Amino acid sequence: MVYVTRKAHFSAAHRLYNPTFTDEQNERVFDKCNNLLGHGHNYTLEVTVRGIPDPATGYVIDLKILKDILDHVIIDKVDHKHLNYDVEFLRGIIPTVENLCVAFWQELEPNLPSGTLHSIRLFESDQNLCDYFGEPVELPRWTSAEVPTHLPSVV
Ligand SMILES: [Zn+2]
Repeated sequence: MVYVTRKAHFSAAHRLYNPTFTDEQNERVFDKCNNLLGHGHNYTLEVTVRGIPDPATGYVIDLKILKDILDHVIIDKVDHKHLNYDVEFLRGIIPTVENLCVAFWQELEPNLPSGTLHSIRLFESDQNLCDYFGEPVELPRWTSAEVPTHLPSVV
């Protein structure tokens, strides 16, 4: 088995917030990431696909094709966006690095033309990262009645 990886970068804002917590709990649990209007991270995403290289091309998956799919399915939708409000497939989830990995997997996996999605690694900073290998994980998702669908207005 051979493993190939495509790396991508994006920058985005998020706010970590659980609507069932009090403001004090949200602040204590999520700290800086609970900032009312959100705050930003420079993310690095690594997507690894495994398979046997095609004898005719030597490719598990053409990395140019993987780049195009990654851009289309994920990067174009999240880069320079607010992850809580601007991204349809993230609507209602707490955008931690863990939940982003699971959500990205769900978007990407059905769109791969060859090979098998092996892992998604997402760096939220140089120090903090998450690995996901596709084991079933329930992704709690609040409805728009439970979480705001746009930035709060601040007077
Ligand atoms: Zn944060």
